[in-house]
Amino acid sequence: MRKNKPADHDLVPVLNAIVRSTGKRRRTANVWSFLEGRCLAARQVASPNYGMRPLEMPISLVILHAISLPPGKFGGGEVEALFTNRLDYSAHPYFATLEGVRVSTHFFLRRDGELVQFVNVAHRAWHAGLSTWRGQNNCNDFSVGIELEGDNNNPYTEAQYAVLQQLLAALFAAYPTLTEVVGHQHVAPERKTDPGPCFEWARLRTQFPNLGLPEAVPEIME
Ligand SMILES: [Zn+2]
Repeated sequence: MRKNKPADHDLVPVLNAIVRSTGKRRRTANVWSFLEGRCLAARQVASPNYGMRPLEMPISLVILHAISLPPGKFGGGEVEALFTNRLDYSAHPYFATLEGVRVSTHFFLRRDGELVQFVNVAHRAWHAGLSTWRGQNNCNDFSVGIELEGDNNNPYTEAQYAVLQQLLAALFAAYPTLTEVVGHQHVAPERKTDPGPCFEWARLRTQFPNLGLPEAVPEIME
């Protein structure tokens, strides 16, 4: 039995202090590691929207998403507010449709490359909803969610691709059971289109040649 193990929410301020102290070294190799399920390169924000993963179910899948609030608008604080149940639902007609929605993600990658972590990787974030991959339902049970700030109309930024590569490499190193990366559109094809036609899967194919990636995805950017 492990003694004196800090609760997850106690780790958040500690890790943010580490990130602040590393300053400009945030993107160097040493911070691309995990401590107790938290990525040292990410700004830590605690979301209450998570649960426990099923016992003895390995984390095998990364699911990429796109999000912007309101749709098509980038750079504001609304996504962070949504994932922490602090969105002002009266501020925009679209936000009213989200009232009562409880969702989260492990990671949110902004267009300027800032990485935010909301849920410990050891925990089950609420990002995929009704979903199936390789015959297994409830993909939240066995996946890591990464939300890219974006939509179906705008190319993702170079900063996002650069940080995504670092994050994926760090995840694969920390969680060897992770073997595949897919999009929300692949695990919930009837409901979802993200990360959408602007995401360049070919980059991941080049960066991680041994990785399982979805087949037959559009390669319009090639
Ligand atoms: Zn999604």
